[in-house]
Parts: sequence; structure tokens; C-alpha cells
Amino acid sequence: MKGERPRVVIVGSGFGGLAAARGLARAPVDVTLVDRTNHHLFQPLLYQVATAGLSPAEIACPIRRILRRQRNARVLLGEAVAIDAAAKRIRLADGEVAYDSLVVAAGAGHSYFGKDEWEAHAPGLKTLEDALEIRRRVLVAFEEAEREEDPEARRRALTFVVVGGGPTGVEMAGAFAEIARNTLARDFRRIDPRTARILLVEAGPRVLPTYPEELSEKAKRQLEALGVQVWTGAAVTGVDASGVDVGADRIATRTVVWAAGVLASPLARSLGAPLDRAGRVRVLSDLTVPGQPAVFVIGDLASLEQDGRPVPGVAPAAIQMGEHTARNVVRARRGEPLLPFRYRDKGSLATIGRKSGVADFGWVRLSGPLAWLAWLTVHIFFLIGFRNRFVVLFTWAWAYLTYERSARLILGPGGRGPSRPSPPGPRGSTPSSGG
Ligand SMILES: Cc1cc2nc3c(=O)[nH]c(=O)nc-3n(C[C@H](O)[C@H](O)[C@H](O)COP(=O)(O)OP(=O)(O)OC[C@H]3O[C@@H](n4cnc5c(N)ncnc54)[C@H](O)[C@@H]3O)c2cc1C
Repeated sequence: MKGERPRVVIVGSGFGGLAAARGLARAPVDVTLVDRTNHHLFQPLLYQVATAGLSPAEIACPIRRILRRQRNARVLLGEAVAIDAAAKRIRLADGEVAYDSLVVAAGAGHSYFGKDEWEAHAPGLKTLEDALEIRRRVLVAFEEAEREEDPEARRRALTFVVVGGGPTGVEMAGAFAEIARNTLARDFRRIDPRTARILLVEAGPRVLPTYPEELSEKAKRQLEALGVQVWTGAAVTGVDASGVDVGADRIATRTVVWAAGVLASPLARSLGAPLDRAGRVRVLSDLTVPGQPAVFVIGDLASLEQDGRPVPGVAPAAIQMGEHTARNVVRARRGEPLLPFRYRDKGSLATIGRKSGVADFGWVRLSGPLAWLAWLTVHIFFLIGFRNRFVVLFTWAWAYLTYERSARLILGPGGRGPSRPSPPGPRGSTPSSGG
């Protein structure tokens, strides 16, 4: 690396950070990409890992490999803990990095609306670790049901609750239904997995609230056709180890998945910039932080309004912001004025089960198998790595033909369920009486 060139540091190698790094490939700058993981993760397919359809390596790619040929870029594995804008330094958990221009693309996590104690019982889906934990809980729940003597406890083990009716919640609930009705249907002897109860609980009046109403309705009907119970206008008021409270109703369950709130990375706070209610940085139209022209915030961490509406926290917005910021970094180095960002909405897609979905491209709205096909094509196209594309396509084709989910492995602490330590004595010797 040549020390005299401007140093551009990018925090986060998600969709936004990676697009910014790639956009600077030909720029006369030295790029340092810092991430706390060593891989770029294709989050739109995370739910497929959580529901045993795909394996982690099929939706993630080492950052070093992606940037292997980009000579002006280096990759640092490290966690950024604070930004000292006055000194132009980022503090890592174990060191420091100095910058001339900074791009913060650290994304967002889950919000439990101030009830952080719910998280232990209702994990969210953001990382590969989250996905593997959810997969473990779901598969263990069926195993426990098979061993269970008490019908009520068995019913509880076979009840799955997804909180949040956005695209992730809808896709997850549909996939749970497919697992129960098809994949596992013939694999157990004492239980019938098809009797599993899958509930999708949404506080708002409809699922997929950012989609046109007509598509929300179709998505609801498609979910119900798969056997999912969709509760709208139903706010969760409590979550614990044995169930979920939804208003006055108590749902006995051991498996809850959280797909509701979003909370920006805590890194945003150290910028000392104005934040919105979700903790995102209120950026200027050129994506810089007010009063800090060398600091850009992009992707899910940025809060920006366009034509009176917020730019959504979706992958295309993060990519477009990353590309735009790369151009602006170059302009700033040349002393040219920064250009305002403009989001181009190319549409939204969500899949429901193995061959259905909804899609809104603005000029055309689709639902059913056509939407599913569009979803499949778009996701294969944007997945990084030829091998990943090939393997995922093959795995989906196989799953389509056989209903099989190839990644049905229970991994993790003792293969046991959530919130319950391993029982004393030899495991599996007698049916468990607990739930
Ligand atoms: C389950 C799920 C499904 C989704 N489905 C879709 C979909 O179908 N279509 C769609 O368009 N969008 C979807 N999204 C949203 C989309 O993935 C995000 O909008 C997009 O990833 C945002 O990109 P980003 O670069 O801002 O952040 P991210 O992609 O989240 O990347 C943030 C990066 O920063 C790193 N990081 C975070 N904090 C630190 C730190 N302190 N130090 C170092 N590194 C750090 C993380 O490891 C990560 O690599 C989905 C999101 C989720 C969680």
C-alpha cells in the first residue's frame, strides 16, 4: 500500500460497503475495508439457512476472495467500536485505523422495542449464527415433540410463532409450513409434523405493509393455503421460555422467531450526528454526516427521505448508496462538489413456500408461481460467486422436485432446544417429559 495516497476506510462489507469498495477500484486511493466477519453475507437468503434449505457457505463469500484482484483494497477483520471524527480515526476492539475519507456501512440489527429480555426466547435473523440457531431450535422442536408423552407439551413443541409480517417473517413462516407439511411429513413415527401450528403475528393491519394492499392480501391467502395462521392487528406483549402473549391471548410455544423491529448499529451514536428513532444517522442528500464532509453513512445505517418517503432499508438501496458514495469520494478528492443521492426503486419481491410469492415492479404486479420465478431469477443473479449460484440453483431444483431440505442438521450446544440445559443422565434413554 502506498501511504501517501488518500486513505478511504469502509466499515462493513455488506451490500453498501462492498459496492463502495468496488466502486473505488480504479480510483487513486487506498481502500481499507473493515468487517467483524470475514464474509459478505447475502441476507435475503438467510431465511433459507434458518429453514434448512441452504447451507451457510452457499449464501456467503469470503471478502478477501471478492476483493482479491482489487489491488488498491485491503481487508481487515476487526470490530469497529467508535469513530473519532475529530482525529479522523476509527477505534477497533483491538487497534485503530486512520482515514481521510470514511464510509460507515455497518447496517442494522434487531429492535425488541425496549424488551431486550425477549431476545433469548425469540432470536432475530441477521447473521449466519442467527440462522443456524433458528434452524437448530426448529429441528430440535420436532425432535422433542417425537419424544414427548404429554399431549399438551407436544402441542407446544409443535407450535411455531413468527413475529413480524414483513418480507422476512412472511418468507420464514411459509418455509416453516413447507418443512412441516412436506419435508418432515414422513420422517417421524410418533408425531405427524403436518399437525404443526405455524403462526405469523403482525401488529399492523396487514402483512407486507410496504407492498400494495392487493399483494398483501394475496400473500396472506397464499400463506393460509400453506396452513399458516396469519394474525394481523396483533401486537406481541410478552415473550418468555414457554410462550408468547398477544394481547389477551397466550400462545404456548418453545420456538419464536423475531422478524419485527430494526435497530441501527450502535456505531452510529459515536458519530455525534442526529439520529432517527431507529438509531440511524440522518444524512444529508449527498450521504455525508452533517458537519462532517469526509464521513459518509450508507445502507441500513442511513436515514434519508426522498420525495417525502424514507429510502427503504433494502439491498438495492445500500448498493446504490455504495456506488454513489464511491463517485462522491473521487469528486471530493478532485475538489468537485458532491452530488446528491437519488434512489431508484426497482421493485420488491417476496417468496411464499416453494413455488409462490408476490412481486411489485411498479409497472407490473405479480403473484403466485410467476412471482416466485421472478424472485428465484433475481436472487440467483445477485448472489455472489459462480459456484454459489450453481449450487443454490441445483439445490432449489432438487428441493422443488423432492421437497427435500438438504441442510437439516442440528448443530450447536448438545443439539438441545432453547432455554433448557441438558438433562442429567444419558441422553435419549427415555422420552422427555418436559417441553
Ligand atoms: C433476513 C433478512 C432478509 C432480507 N431480505 C431482503 C430482500 O429480500 N431484499 C432486499 O432488498 N433486502 C433484504 N434485506 C435487507 C438487506 O439485506 C439490507 O438492506 C442490506 O443488507 C443493507 O446493507 P448494508 O450494507 O447497509 O448492511 P449489511 O448488509 O447488514 O452489512 C453490514 C456489515 O457491517 C458489518 N459490521 C456491523 N457492525 C460492525 C462493526 N462494529 N465493525 C465491523 N463490521 C461491522 C457486518 O458484519 C456486515 O458485514 C434483508 C435483511 C435481512 C436481515
